[in-house]
Amino acid sequence: MKKIAISMLLIMTLLVTMLTACTSGGTEPISTVDKNSADVLVIGGGGAGLVASITAAENGANVILVEKMPAVGGNTIISATGITASDTKLHQEAGVPFTKEDHFKKTMETSKNLADEKLVKILVDNSNAAYEWLLTLGLKYKLDPKDPAWIIPEEGHYGAQLVKAYQAEAAKYSNIDLRLQTKATELVVENGKVVGAKVTDKDGKEQVIKAKSVILATGGLNNAPDMIAEFNPKYVGVNTEMTTPGPTGDGIRMAQAIGAQLKDMEYFQMRPLSLNGHWYKEVIVNQEGIGGILVNKDAKRFVDETMSSWDLASEILKQQDSMAFVIFDTDVFNTSDGKKIVEKAKGIKADTIEDLAKQLGLDPAALKATVDEYNAKNDPFGRKTLGKVTTAPFYGVKTLPSSHYTMGGVAINENAQVLDKDGKVIEGLYAAGEVVGGLYGAGRVAGNNTLDDIVFGKIAAKHAIGK
Ligand SMILES: Cc1cc2nc3c(=O)[nH]c(=O)nc-3n(C[C@H](O)[C@H](O)[C@H](O)COP(=O)(O)OP(=O)(O)OC[C@H]3O[C@@H](n4cnc5c(N)ncnc54)[C@H](O)[C@@H]3O)c2cc1C
Repeated sequence: MKKIAISMLLIMTLLVTMLTACTSGGTEPISTVDKNSADVLVIGGGGAGLVASITAAENGANVILVEKMPAVGGNTIISATGITASDTKLHQEAGVPFTKEDHFKKTMETSKNLADEKLVKILVDNSNAAYEWLLTLGLKYKLDPKDPAWIIPEEGHYGAQLVKAYQAEAAKYSNIDLRLQTKATELVVENGKVVGAKVTDKDGKEQVIKAKSVILATGGLNNAPDMIAEFNPKYVGVNTEMTTPGPTGDGIRMAQAIGAQLKDMEYFQMRPLSLNGHWYKEVIVNQEGIGGILVNKDAKRFVDETMSSWDLASEILKQQDSMAFVIFDTDVFNTSDGKKIVEKAKGIKADTIEDLAKQLGLDPAALKATVDEYNAKNDPFGRKTLGKVTTAPFYGVKTLPSSHYTMGGVAINENAQVLDKDGKVIEGLYAAGEVVGGLYGAGRVAGNNTLDDIVFGKIAAKHAIGK
């Protein structure tokens, strides 16, 4: 009898213990069980980091996502227009073909054939699936009537919608532990394998987060003019008008410190004409017949305004204070790009060139002489398609060349695993998004970038957890 009572007591104790364990395990995220350990540590909460976190979490992994800013979003949230995807239902329905072959060709040509063909093929082959996935998040798109390669929102701002949808999706998973204002500073390596990262948390405390795999999703180096100048001195003095504060090349530096291979670090997409967070199409100064001119602080032209936008940016950076003024007439203003620059960059309007100069802080006589010379078709810079600045009122806008997209970054293989200088995999380390180099060679097709966040964010997460 005594034996039965003891057995009953043991069984009851066991049941209570099991029930307690089930309750706490089922409701609490891993971070409270072991605060600084996870299956996957994702560094950076922009598009690539959010997609990688969602993918790992929906496959059952415990994820810690660290984001150094007070909010997620990165440059993804300011993505202005849309996504590039090929052979989608939108293309079929509209009878406007944009095939995988077209997509591949366009991406390779824009890269000046320097892109890694293997990675581009993966990007292109997965673009429709990535687009379809966005639809499952409740997002709605249409083809851009001007360019079938562009898929744009039915309405609203592309990047803001994207980040909102990713956040909503991530919020469904209690196994994603998002830590804002937490900056990764160093990768932790044990026996040749990346096993975590050092971070500084929101209270300034240093911690080590351990993980079976680490995914770098820290974005590019748009907001690191010092790094841009280091890798390509042509861009010394470049501005950061068109970036959020987060992409400062941290992931590239952390990976470089443990021997990662960097690719295409000298290539940057620069926008010569930008101000107040917006960029302006070069057509304002280079359109045949009507385009305006660029002048420096001495009110003098200094360049053939029709040269490539990247070279134009570096020519402006050589001028005093690394800036210039765009000067044009009413015929340019009457175009949509003309109106946009005046409105967004708060352009100056004047009835005479002299008055325009005064308002811009330029020497009136010097600007008048420059404009007269240009209108008389005297061009010392070899510009083939001269415009004119003849029809009042006239307009002037200050412009700062800014970095828009940074092509360089860490080398990856088809599993999004980071490679070392000999091309060997660095175990435990993955990368996705703008932190990756080699995917675009010398130039990127706009719209491929939020696409690569999805394609390689998903690939990295799945491979990291063995799916
Ligand atoms: C003005 C503009 C318009 C664009 N328009 C388009 C477009 O229409 N279509 C398109 O496809 N692409 C567009 N792009 C490019 C595209 O936005 C980016 O290439 C892409 O979104 C980058 O995603 P990402 O996740 O790699 O980086 P990001 O979205 O920049 O995210 C990186 C995140 O990592 C965080 N981070 C950095 N370092 C650390 C660290 N040490 N610790 C923790 N967190 C860190 C950052 O704070 C940031 O939140 C545009 C870019 C710009 C600037």
